[in-house]
Amino acid sequence: MSDIFENVEPMVYKSRINVPYQWWAGETASRFFISLRDDQKILGTKCTKCGKTYVPPRKSCPTCFTPNEEWKEVSSVGTLVTYTVVRRQLASLPRKAPVIYGLIRLEGSDTSLLHIIDEVKPEDINIGMKLQAKFAGERKGNIFDIEYFRPLK
Ligand SMILES: [Zn+2]
Repeated sequence: MSDIFENVEPMVYKSRINVPYQWWAGETASRFFISLRDDQKILGTKCTKCGKTYVPPRKSCPTCFTPNEEWKEVSSVGTLVTYTVVRRQLASLPRKAPVIYGLIRLEGSDTSLLHIIDEVKPEDINIGMKLQAKFAGERKGNIFDIEYFRPLK
């Protein structure tokens, strides 16, 4: 059988596909984002059985599987639990590298929120430092309504 591809080396082309998509954030995340956008307040959900407060909010308690039906405002101030510095300008970065990502345990929460840290140099950042949310001037109902966290002054 004759084939026009006979004796042609099979080549593999590597690329990436960018697929725009959207989905409903759900009742719990929607309430969280609306509070950020309209009131500049950070809300968590509290488990009525074990007492843990989750930020970002969870619909059900992942510890004891109880539906979280209680909402609680937490502080915009928290403690840096851990962090990393992204120095490579990846396409997915929301801003110019280097970008510091940290896990921040807000006062009143039992979990940590992942977010960007700014107004501090990577060499000056310390685990345990106090950080405060800086809200964006124009808020759109997403996690970047908190523009970033910065050292508490
Ligand atoms: Zn629980």
